[in-house]
Amino acid sequence: MRYPHLFQPLKIGPVTLENRLMMGSMHTGMEGLPDAFDRLAAFYRARAEGGAGLIVTGGFSPTEDGEFGDGDSLFNAAEHAETHAVIPAAVHAAGGRIFLQLLHAGRYSKRPDAVAPSAIRAPINRNQPRALAADEIPAIIEAYGRSAVLAQQAGYDGVEIMGSEGYLLTQFLSPRTNHREDDWGGSFANRARLAVEVVRHVRGRVGDGLAIAFRMSMLDLVEGGLTGDELVELATLLEAAGADSLTTGIGWHEARVPTIAQAVPRAAFVSASERIKAAVTIPVAASNRINTPAVAEAILAEGRADFISMARPFLADEAFAAKARNGKSEEINICIACNQACLDHIFTGEFASCLVNPRAGREDEFTVKVTRSAKKVAVAGGGVGGLAAAEMAARIGHNVVLFEASDRLGGQFNLAQHVPGKAEFAETIAYFENALIRQGAEIRLQSPATNTELDSFDHVVVATGVTARQPVIDGIDHPKVASYAEILRRQRVAGETVAIIGGGGIGFDVAAFLLDGDDHHHQDPEAFAAYWGIDMAVNSDGGLQAAGLPAVMPRRQITMLQRKQDRFGRTLGLTTGWVHKAILQRNNVQQIAAVDYRHIDDDGIHITVAGAPRLIAADTIIVCAGQEPEDQLSAALKSAGKAYSVVGGARLAGELDAKRAIEEGSRAAMAI
Ligand code: NAP
Ligand code: SF4
Repeated sequence: MRYPHLFQPLKIGPVTLENRLMMGSMHTGMEGLPDAFDRLAAFYRARAEGGAGLIVTGGFSPTEDGEFGDGDSLFNAAEHAETHAVIPAAVHAAGGRIFLQLLHAGRYSKRPDAVAPSAIRAPINRNQPRALAADEIPAIIEAYGRSAVLAQQAGYDGVEIMGSEGYLLTQFLSPRTNHREDDWGGSFANRARLAVEVVRHVRGRVGDGLAIAFRMSMLDLVEGGLTGDELVELATLLEAAGADSLTTGIGWHEARVPTIAQAVPRAAFVSASERIKAAVTIPVAASNRINTPAVAEAILAEGRADFISMARPFLADEAFAAKARNGKSEEINICIACNQACLDHIFTGEFASCLVNPRAGREDEFTVKVTRSAKKVAVAGGGVGGLAAAEMAARIGHNVVLFEASDRLGGQFNLAQHVPGKAEFAETIAYFENALIRQGAEIRLQSPATNTELDSFDHVVVATGVTARQPVIDGIDHPKVASYAEILRRQRVAGETVAIIGGGGIGFDVAAFLLDGDDHHHQDPEAFAAYWGIDMAVNSDGGLQAAGLPAVMPRRQITMLQRKQDRFGRTLGLTTGWVHKAILQRNNVQQIAAVDYRHIDDDGIHITVAGAPRLIAADTIIVCAGQEPEDQLSAALKSAGKAYSVVGGARLAGELDAKRAIEEGSRAAMAI
C-alpha cells in the first residue's frame, strides 16, 4: 500500500471512517436550484463512490437570521430533514459517511436582520448587523440542538459546527468583533462561552448516537484574532464539552492573507493543526492546499494531524481517494487552486463546478457512455481545450489523433506554469497527457494539422488556440519590444525599467513573473509566512506579525498601461485577483489607465493621458495586449462538408479562459 497512513480507519465519536480523507465543507450554490436535493445527492454520491472517507455538506443555518441571505440554507424544521434525507441515503448507498454542517453566518449575513455579538459591520459586507441581546442567545444555542436532532433524523452521521472563517461563533470568540460587557464578552472564558455551550447543548440533545465535529479557526489571520494560548484553551474546552473531532479553518473571510489561492504553498498551514493536535485527544484534521495523496500521507506519517480535510480536490476529481488507494494516483485530476469555477462561481451566484473537471456539480449531464460505433476523431491543437476534447473522445471510445504544432502539450498553460504561484498548471497538462496515453490516443507533436491530413477523419475538433495580438503602434518593431511569450519562456530578459502594454490577466502575470520569478514564497511555507507577515507560532493575536507586512524591495520598476478608463485587474478572478493586485502594489508597480499610445523609440513608450503627452522610460516594453483566434482550418473543413467543431480560443479569443476551453472541448467530444 503506497499511502498506508491515509487508508487507516478512523473513529470520530460513534462513526468509523474507512480512511482519513475527508471532503471538507464547501458551498455549492446548488441549494436554490429547482432540483437541488437530487443534484446534491448525485454530487455527494459521486464523491462517496470515489472513496472519500467522510463528506461534510455546505453550511446550513439553524436560524433564519443566520442564513447568508439567499433563503436556501435553512435547516431547522421537520420538512428540511425530509428534503435532505436523499443526500445521506445516496452517500450511504455508496458506502460513504456524511456530516451536515451547521453554520450561522452572523455579521457575514446579507439579511436585513443579521445579528452579531456587537453591532460592528464586516469589512466584506455592506450589511450592518445588530447586537444580540443577552436573552436572545440561549435560543441560538437551542436552535443548534434542534438542527442537530433533525440532522440525525435526516440520516446524517454527524454534524460539523462551523466555528471558523469569521462566522458567528468566531465573532463571539474574538475581541475584534465581540465588544460585549456581559457574560458573553470580555474575558476569554466569556467569549468562548457560546461555542462551548453550543457543543455541550448539541451533545445533550443527540446523545452518543451522532458525531459532533467542530470546525475551529486554528489561525484567524486578522488583527484582534485569538492568540496561540487561547486557541489551545478553546480546543480543550470543546473536547470537554463533547466534540468528537476538530476540523480546521484557516483565516477569516476578511483576512488579507491568502489562505487557499495558488499563492499559498502546498500544506502551508499544517503547523496550525499540529499545535492543536498536541493539546487534545480527539482527532484533528489538517487542511488548506493539500491536493495530492503524497502531501496528505506525509502529514499523517509525520504525526502532524489525524486526518486530512480537502474540499476542492474532490471537485477536481471525485475519485481522488479511490485512485490513491488503488495505486493510481497518477490518474488523479489535481486541483490547481485557481478558484475560477468553484469559489468565483459561488460569489457570482452560479453553482460550484471545476475548471479542470466540468463534470463537477453536473454529474448527470456529463455521464459518459462508451460508443458502439467508434469514429476517427482528429483534434487539432494540444492546449487544454484540445486536450479535454481528445481525452473525452478517447474515453467515449473513439479513435483519437491529437495534432500539436509545438514540441509539447499544454498551449497557454505551458506559459502560465512559469508564472509565480501557477506551477500547479503543469499538473493539468500531465493529467491529460497521462489519460490520453492510457486510453491509447495517438499524440503527434511538432505536427501542425493540415486539411489534407484531416481529410481521412470522421470528425475534427479545431482547438488551435490563439495568437498574441500585435497592437498598431508606431515603433512596435523596436528591439526593446518583447512579447509576453518571449519573457515567460525566458527567451528575452527584461531590463530594470519595464512598460507593459495591457492590464489583463497576462499583464498581471508578466509583472508578477518579473518581480517574483525566482522567489520561494509560492512554494516554501516558511518563505510564504515571512512574505505575508504570518506568525505561525501564533505568539501574536490572530497569527499576524506585529510589525505588519515586511517591506519588499522591487526588482524592477514596472509601469502597466491600458487604454480603458477603468480600474486595473477587473478581469482577474473574484477571489484571487486581490492577491495578485496586493503583490504588485507592494512592489510599487505603476498603473496608468486611459492611455493613448503614440510611439515607441529608444527612450521608451510615448503616450498621452487626457491629452497630456508623457514618456514612460523603459528598457523593455512587453506586449500583453490580448489575443486573436488562430483558426486556419475550419473554413476549408466547412467547404469540404466535414463534420467539425471549434473550441476554446480558436472559437472566441476575446473571452479566452481555460475554464471555457476545457468545458467546450469536453462537450464537443460528447456531441460527436
Ligand atoms: P485580456 O484580459 O483581454 O487583456 C488584454 C489587455 O490588452 C487589456 O488590458 C487591453 O486593455 C489591452 N489591449 C487590447 N487590445 C489592445 C490593442 N489593440 N492595443 C493595446 N492594448 C490592447 O487578455 P490577456 O491578458 O491576454 O488574458 C487572456 C485571458 O487569459 C484572459 O481573458 C483571462 O481569461 C486569462 N487569464 C486569466 C488570468 C487570471 O489571473 N485570472 C491570468 C492570465 C490569463 P485596453 O484595451 O484598455 O488597452
Ligand atoms: Fe480546484 Fe480550480 Fe477546480 Fe476550484 S476550479 S476545484 S480551485 S481546479
